[in-house]
Amino acid sequence: MKSDVQVAVIGGGIVGASVLYWLTRLGWTDCALIERRELTSGSTWHAAGNTTYFGPYAEMTKLFAGSIRTYLQAELDSGQSVGFHQTGSLRVATSEREHALFHSYAPKYQTLDIPYRVVDNNTIAELHPCIETDGLFGAAHTPTDGHVDPTSTTNALAKAARNLGAEVIRQTPVDALHHNGTQWQLETKVGTVRAQHVVMAASFWTRELLLPLGLNVPLYATQHHEVITDSVAELAALDHEVPAMRDSVVSCSVRQEQNGFLAGFYETDPKFWALDGIPADFKEELFPPELDRVMPHLEQLLERMPAFGHAGIKAINNGPMCWTPDGLPLLGPVSGHAGLWLASGFNVGIGTGGGSAEFLAHWMVDGKPHFDLPIVHADRFGNDITLDAALESIRACYRQGYRLPDAIS
Ligand SMILES: Cc1cc2nc3c(=O)[nH]c(=O)nc-3n(C[C@H](O)[C@H](O)[C@H](O)COP(=O)(O)OP(=O)(O)OC[C@H]3O[C@@H](n4cnc5c(N)ncnc54)[C@H](O)[C@@H]3O)c2cc1C
Repeated sequence: MKSDVQVAVIGGGIVGASVLYWLTRLGWTDCALIERRELTSGSTWHAAGNTTYFGPYAEMTKLFAGSIRTYLQAELDSGQSVGFHQTGSLRVATSEREHALFHSYAPKYQTLDIPYRVVDNNTIAELHPCIETDGLFGAAHTPTDGHVDPTSTTNALAKAARNLGAEVIRQTPVDALHHNGTQWQLETKVGTVRAQHVVMAASFWTRELLLPLGLNVPLYATQHHEVITDSVAELAALDHEVPAMRDSVVSCSVRQEQNGFLAGFYETDPKFWALDGIPADFKEELFPPELDRVMPHLEQLLERMPAFGHAGIKAINNGPMCWTPDGLPLLGPVSGHAGLWLASGFNVGIGTGGGSAEFLAHWMVDGKPHFDLPIVHADRFGNDITLDAALESIRACYRQGYRLPDAIS
């Protein structure tokens, strides 16, 4: 294990691996990623892998677009498949307002050179024969997004970074970090790692690691359910994979998983996890499923997509998902702590991890990001946000689900 590096990245989920990859691509190869267990062992291993281009904010869409680009480049660089399924996505319009908003986004996608169109119900039915279109007002179609395999992607990113000289240190928790006046010192069971820069990519653990420095970083975990079905005859009969579907009323996303469906739900009353501290022995674990919590959404989904109910449930995954009070990640330097950077707080870390890492790595290497995105800056909540205020805000974001804001930028 190297004991002196230019950059130490703490956390080996998709975000940490993406940061390591981007730093090495930009020429900072003297980097080490330190992971307490195995790569992906936080939230990444159980994620559905959805990576969509759809979203109301142009600048955030750049992070989504940058992510797919990053993962496909890592695949080329490493020779390791990232399992990208280019199914495209349909964001169904459940009201005239949504339909109008979808149209208003079109110029943004033109500027970003991302294929995007608003389609009518007949086209929805052609693209996805399992969607019940009665009551819909068309959909926004992004044909070139889809989903990746999060574990393969993380490994591809790490492998590509290693090929360029970075080190990946597994099974080594960072127990504490402090600045000795010249450098950061990371304490681990096998010795001290000294670094000029530290990137915190440890998701909800980042909060706990930084508390001893007097930093109150509002990162908390909710539980999040996904339901996977057995093989569905309607899907098995097709010669192509159907697009992912997102619906603001059902508050869920559904994509094809082999010949079945995989649905993820945003309940109106999310349940937090480990507010008293992340259990020290937390491994690659899921929580017991609480189907009652998602049942109202599941029932609505059966109306939107009756075929979902034509097969049995194969698995229910209930895993931890990291949140900031506004639902956006924390990216950038921490004021008053030179050389300390955040890449934490991702609830769609597969969708935005690669592009966010590109953003942060440019900031670190070039002294500024390649485009500005103040809404994700690491210091935006200050240090005084209370637990109650943070949780209330997270609850509001979670229950917002796929509902769209009025204002568009
Ligand atoms: C059921 C479910 C489905 C999801 N589906 C999607 C999806 O389809 N698309 C999407 O974009 N997102 C999805 N997500 C969210 C996604 O899983 C996360 O946003 C993403 O995995 C976060 O990545 P990360 O690298 O920030 O965190 P993590 O993957 O949690 O990685 C953090 C790492 O830090 C390590 N670590 C912690 N403390 C230390 C320490 N002291 N020293 C060293 N290492 C440490 C941990 O072991 C862990 O490996 C889903 C989440 C859930 C729960």
